[in-house]
Amino acid sequence: SLSDRLTATFTNLRGKGRLTESDINSTIRDIRMALLDADVALPVVKQFTRGVRERALGAEVSQALNPGQQVVKIVNEELVEILGGQTRRLNMAKSGPTVIMLAGLQGSGKTTFAGKLARRLRDEGHFPVLVAADLQRPNAVRQLEVVGERAGVPVFSPERGNEGGHDAVSENAEGTRSYGDPVWVAQAGVNQAKLRQYDVVIVDTAGRLAVDENLMQQAADIREAINPHEVLFVIDAMIGQAAIETATAFQDGVDFTGVVLSKLDGDARGGAALSVASITGRPIMYASTGEGVKDIEVFHPDRMASRILDMGDVLTLIEQAERAFDKRQAAEMARKFSGGEDFTFDDFLQQMSAIKKMGNIKGLLGMMPGMGQMRDQLNALDEREFDRVEAIVHSMTPFERNNPKQINGSRRARIARGSGVSVSEVNQLLERFGQAQKMMRQLKNGGGMPGMPGMPG
Ligand code: GDP
Ligand code: MG
Repeated sequence: SLSDRLTATFTNLRGKGRLTESDINSTIRDIRMALLDADVALPVVKQFTRGVRERALGAEVSQALNPGQQVVKIVNEELVEILGGQTRRLNMAKSGPTVIMLAGLQGSGKTTFAGKLARRLRDEGHFPVLVAADLQRPNAVRQLEVVGERAGVPVFSPERGNEGGHDAVSENAEGTRSYGDPVWVAQAGVNQAKLRQYDVVIVDTAGRLAVDENLMQQAADIREAINPHEVLFVIDAMIGQAAIETATAFQDGVDFTGVVLSKLDGDARGGAALSVASITGRPIMYASTGEGVKDIEVFHPDRMASRILDMGDVLTLIEQAERAFDKRQAAEMARKFSGGEDFTFDDFLQQMSAIKKMGNIKGLLGMMPGMGQMRDQLNALDEREFDRVEAIVHSMTPFERNNPKQINGSRRARIARGSGVSVSEVNQLLERFGQAQKMMRQLKNGGGMPGMPGMPG
């Protein structure tokens, strides 16, 4: 399988320079198959692999990964990027109700999703209302009412929500039966929401089985009438190659601000996500994953990327290889003490223990070149604190000691636990250390220590 081939040992090319064309070609062939298997539309596959090839050709050979893994890593990063990078949140109104309109083909999952989104927003403390502006099918309004009941969210529908006259069956110029005027219902729904102080209005609209100009015009009219904060295009994840045509038609006809990928609980590998995102440039915001009212997920580009690639195990291996490499590299760095490198916590520890052996810290620091300026900061550091500082540094991993900038919040919490101090003490030390590092750098660059090999000045 693809995974086997990619994890099988490649010729070791470490240090060879750039990835070679043949390294890339064989992996790209595999990637193309994986994307087509995932039902990514062909033009998107072509464009995508072209981009990956260009980037891979310019890439330096990784020290940590074999070439196959390295190409997969690039592919994964590009996928995540196209799928939107970070998850985008709903654009909420600053005042008055947030208006969200749903659009998409019939059967794509709009009405089901309307209920899920309403329920989720309700659970988050909002007061949503659903508006039944699909008057195309006689039972569509009833369906939304059932959905609303399940979600515990009220539904504004033409039968209930107005003075009558608009729920009569009518026929438009094209002879299409319609149970009232959806534009009017949508607008009345939004007005009702304002009056009754609901803070989110979700407008369900009609869809047809294939892209259709009347439908598109109707959706565009609704959009114009209610001026929504979000127009979410709901698309069935199983749509396959038709994704491009459908998404383009809706973008041209109604335009939308975000995408909902529905029926992701099925067999679909999610290729439609890549097709829609790369053709329309619109972010995918939610995944709909079942018929139940709670089957809704915020869309995660990274998870979708690994689903499309179907290479979860390869991606895990890549991460492990990079982590193992970090460790190896950190150990090497810890061994060498070079004046040319940035001042690290390992250097710091060595200096501290040297100074401690000699006794009086402050006096000695005052005598070290350049350290006089640091005295004020170091005056705040008494001898007992010194031991605590040492404990903190000892709780750091070799990687952290050599890369203090990489010590993020969770690492800080772990270090604090390990050394029995508070996180704020760790923060203080890191801040002081950052200042010391800067000073050391100035010393080196400013020629404060003359005669050091490899130093300018
Ligand atoms: P609409 O015509 O766009 O409003 O689509 P509906 O919401 O009526 O959904 C069409 C059919 O798909 C219904 O039978 C739904 O139960 C089903 N459906 C909708 N969303 C999902 C989903 O995420 N997963 C699954 N398995 N079925 C879904
Ligand atoms: Mg519907």
